[in-house]
Amino acid sequence: MKIMKFGGTSVGKPERMHQVKDLITRDNQKKIVVLSALSGTTNALVGIGDALAAANKELAKERIDVLHKHYLAFYKELLKTDAARVKADKIVKEHFEFLNIILKISFNEAINRDILAQGELLSTKLFYTLLQELDIQAVFLPALDFMSIDENHEPELTKISDKVKVILANYPGDRIFVTQGYICKNHRNEVDNLKRGGSDYSASLIGAAISAEVVEIWTDIDGMHNNDPRVVDKTRPIAQMSFDEAAELAYFGAKILHPASIWPAQQYNIPVKLLNTMEPDAVGTTITAKELGTGVKALAAKDGITAIKIKSSRMLLAYGFLRKVFEVFEKYKTSIDMITTSEVAVSLTVDDTSHLKEITAELEKYGTVEIDTNQTIISVVGNLIAESKGTVAKVMNCLEEFPLRMVSYGGSRHNVSILVDAKFKNEALRSLNEGLFEWN
Ligand code: ADP
Ligand code: ASP
Ligand code: MG
Repeated sequence: MKIMKFGGTSVGKPERMHQVKDLITRDNQKKIVVLSALSGTTNALVGIGDALAAANKELAKERIDVLHKHYLAFYKELLKTDAARVKADKIVKEHFEFLNIILKISFNEAINRDILAQGELLSTKLFYTLLQELDIQAVFLPALDFMSIDENHEPELTKISDKVKVILANYPGDRIFVTQGYICKNHRNEVDNLKRGGSDYSASLIGAAISAEVVEIWTDIDGMHNNDPRVVDKTRPIAQMSFDEAAELAYFGAKILHPASIWPAQQYNIPVKLLNTMEPDAVGTTITAKELGTGVKALAAKDGITAIKIKSSRMLLAYGFLRKVFEVFEKYKTSIDMITTSEVAVSLTVDDTSHLKEITAELEKYGTVEIDTNQTIISVVGNLIAESKGTVAKVMNCLEEFPLRMVSYGGSRHNVSILVDAKFKNEALRSLNEGLFEWN
């Protein structure tokens, strides 16, 4: 069995949904099709939630109406028969009635998560209606029946696996299963989600849950490129990379993959393929355990980083100092990305600043604390970077024009990370692109 996940742009237009239908019926292999919301929908739902959080019901209503119109036009173009259109009309009505009812009740975070779930529910139901219209046999699998996270927001892989297997056993003769990415239930049995871009994570988790042969991530680009194509003009796809390399790139900002989407596949050694819905025969990227080649393969950048420096002369030769510092972050469930130390100071970076005030107050017990906001981590990722002669010198040469706030090297064999002020990000990525890769 394989997993085929299609992102927002792959289902964002009626003709694209038809293309997805073609792609899932190209072979007879059993597959679970994981769909995102139509492109733009989750952003629109975030906008509705924001308006409600600001108690601006008028604006929320306006936004609901704009989205509603979009869906009415969408299904009319997607479906041709009256019977299918009647079904789609019922689906759209049901979900927009739900959004309109929310306008009348008092808003809270759990309701916001319910709002965010509407996108994937709509896309999968409309896609399933298309399959029915075309007489393509398929089974609709509600993700909320099996996808779950615990109180720490971690997916419950064993439970997910047990539940999916029981459900699938009910359909021994079926070949196509359709489910939602992104959405899940939390430990309070409320509707929740796997964070923005989370459909990739759903696909990989479901792949691990059923020991799939492959997890295919179908998107709007022909695989993982060597640099961020939104920032740098000249980029190219990478045909093969290792789980470790892909995980570093995803974690450090390559938007093509959700940051956590590699580990479930890696744990169960399931290949992940990144493929282009608009160019289905392009090679794409295959991610496996194999480590190929040495040297730099790709760059990624993670924005919204805050650097925290704790300076203390007491740190000098004092054992236990770092433990105390880390304990503060642990207490506030804030994970650290980068760390560099000197004899009298330690610098760390975080991307979650929701407890920055409390963390700073506690760290001040140990020394003076300096905070730099608006930083970007640039990650240079590859295989055996340390062993590949001259690589780090080249990286530094490319960055000579920019002040470097932190440099982390040697933590893994796959990565050199550099922290710069966000305003230098684009130029730094371009300069590294020219200096580290050969272009002919
Ligand atoms: P989907 O909606 O299919 O999940 P995303 O927008 O989440 O698609 O991810 C695909 C996008 O990721 C591409 O269109 C591209 O702009 C962006 N991207 C950023 N970094 C990279 C990279 N290194 N390689 C490929 N795409 C990247
Ligand atoms: N629809 C969700 C989002 O836009 C999940 C996803 O597309 O992966 O973040
Ligand atoms: Mg995505």
